[in-house]
Amino acid sequence: MEDEVVELCRELIRIDTSNTGDVDGPGERVAAEYVAEKLEGVGIKTTVLESAHRRTSVVARIEGTEPGRDALLLHGHLDVVPAQASDWTHDPFGGEIADGCVWGRGAVDMKDMDAMILASVLDRARTGRRPKRDLVLAFLADEEAGGKYGAHWLVDNHPGLFEGCTEAVGEVGGFSLSVPGDRRLYLIETAEKGLAWMRLKAVGTAGHGSMVHDDNAVTELAKAVARIGEHRFPIRLTPTVRRFLEAACEAYGVEFDPKDPEASLPHLGTLARMIGATLRSTLNPTRLDAGYKTNVIPQHAEAQIDGRFLPGYEKEFFETVDALLGEKVQREFVHYDIAVETEYEGDLVGAMEEALTWADPGAIPVPYCLSAGTDAKSFATLGMRCYGFAPLRLPADLDFSGMFHGIDERVPVDGLQFGVRVLDRFLDNA
Ligand SMILES: [Zn+2]
Repeated sequence: MEDEVVELCRELIRIDTSNTGDVDGPGERVAAEYVAEKLEGVGIKTTVLESAHRRTSVVARIEGTEPGRDALLLHGHLDVVPAQASDWTHDPFGGEIADGCVWGRGAVDMKDMDAMILASVLDRARTGRRPKRDLVLAFLADEEAGGKYGAHWLVDNHPGLFEGCTEAVGEVGGFSLSVPGDRRLYLIETAEKGLAWMRLKAVGTAGHGSMVHDDNAVTELAKAVARIGEHRFPIRLTPTVRRFLEAACEAYGVEFDPKDPEASLPHLGTLARMIGATLRSTLNPTRLDAGYKTNVIPQHAEAQIDGRFLPGYEKEFFETVDALLGEKVQREFVHYDIAVETEYEGDLVGAMEEALTWADPGAIPVPYCLSAGTDAKSFATLGMRCYGFAPLRLPADLDFSGMFHGIDERVPVDGLQFGVRVLDRFLDNA
């Protein structure tokens, strides 16, 4: 299992599944067929589905030994964000091993987890180790562009594939953050911010650039964009973030001050930026588009905003956005998805904690909120409680959050092997 996980990860990285947006990359179908063949090879029946040309996902169900229990979904996406090879130390689609790491696009996001799921499930099938509950596996297209051709499409068009699933386990959780005393926090994702990518439109009166002109779309839009970009939402401590910060402060031996949660951020090293973004909703202008000639005042001006709202604060978020827009600027969604938050308790969480502390006696499992989004949002709409748990024990000095979509994305080989041991142990008890 520990050798196979490394080979599976390397082979998946070598299949270029770049997702550039609405256009399909070269490889989602190839990767899906690769996964299906591996599963079929050990007698696991798969369903291969295509939402659009070559936008392919694979779903399989493994029957548990205790019928009548709720099913568990394990999901991973097969697509990756593009990579510019000239910027990288090693070929982003080479799956090379160097300096103790597997290098390549997808090494942490998330072909590592895909490989862990596969390696564990293949080994369990070969050795006749069946899970207690029904296990549904989903290897998905299109997560990196919001899941329109992957998780969302499957949930909308084939919800029956997930029948009986009450809980889901996916990415961006289970990784370690070193703290004093040779101990490590393991961040299990129990919440995600919602996302509102918005197009702003201002309409004014077109005219000659030499005139006195009071109804200028560019001016109105620019004012709204500046208001939005300068706005700071108040700090809102969600249950997940509070619990995370309390645990992190305890691990560092400092007092947690609920009145000043930002004071605990400097302890978190490279994770501080990401955790900091889970203390409040955010709005960032990202695109501007107006006009076509210097002496022509255009009738329209447009901008785009990347907005992220905390679980439980969606209403406050949109009321604020609308107040900031003013009367002359309208908004519409480029992409919208919900915020999710679930409790950090119950048998499934217990199984994650047990597996982590079994493999690492210095483990301190803690819940945390992801500042971005994953396919969990789709599965939450089917009523599942969603967790991010792709276990990785990481060296203290690795900038893990910087690996996501970054240059020189890589995963330590021993981290990957640790991960498959933990995931397999978790599946024994899940
Ligand atoms: Zn991902």
